[in-house]
Amino acid sequence: MRRLVVGNWKMNGLSAPAAELARAVAAGAGDGPPDLVLCPPFTQIAAVAAILAGSTVAVGGQDCHPEPAGPHTGDISAPMLRDVGARYVILGHSERRAAHAENDGLVRMKAIAAARAGLIPIVCVGETEAERDEGRAEPVVASQVAGSLPEDFAGILAYEPVWAIGSGRTPKAGEIAGMHALIRARLVQAFGAGGKEMPILYGGSVKGANAASIMEIPEVGGGLIGGASLVAAEFLAIAAAARSFPGT
Ligand code: PEP
Repeated sequence: MRRLVVGNWKMNGLSAPAAELARAVAAGAGDGPPDLVLCPPFTQIAAVAAILAGSTVAVGGQDCHPEPAGPHTGDISAPMLRDVGARYVILGHSERRAAHAENDGLVRMKAIAAARAGLIPIVCVGETEAERDEGRAEPVVASQVAGSLPEDFAGILAYEPVWAIGSGRTPKAGEIAGMHALIRARLVQAFGAGGKEMPILYGGSVKGANAASIMEIPEVGGGLIGGASLVAAEFLAIAAAARSFPGT
């Protein structure tokens, strides 16, 4: 399987610059099986999906509500994302866990809702700096994996150490390899053969310049990219680095 590179635009993207960025990524993405995903803010999903139609770049949401519809002011459901062209949805990003008090149980319910709507969930896990300093990174991540994934999960994991997001700091290659190996072991334990195939993305300060050294780490199945996904040339450089390795 080719490595997957997912851009998380977060709360960035008015209509004109979002369209320009999507067009630039589509133009540079080339041919082949779809291995790139852009996750714009909700307001831009339909427009970006229209621009990316027929390209190797898919569209995703950044969150969804666990219910398909109902009295939830301001929320967006998984069927709504699917309806406007999304194929993926990021769930349990650390910014949502921190700013919206999302816990593993809620992330799990959202993953169920996403799959029911035909979306591929990308479930994020990762330790804070304090948890790492206290030597608790591995149990924290193991517990997030156990608590955030439904029994019939068939999506994607993203390991994103919270302290590496937007900081310009990345873990050492051995630390990423160790955490990805731990996640893989938990996935195999929980899902058997299916757990062997689930991509595990790395996220946290991935740029064009360091992408190759991250993509070559064992069990890294691609990247979840924040800041660098807002610059087409950077995102495409990361995609090129990902494509230079054989599938995991
Ligand atoms: C993220 O927020 O998922 C992320 C990885 O951000 P950045 O690439 O900016 O560190």
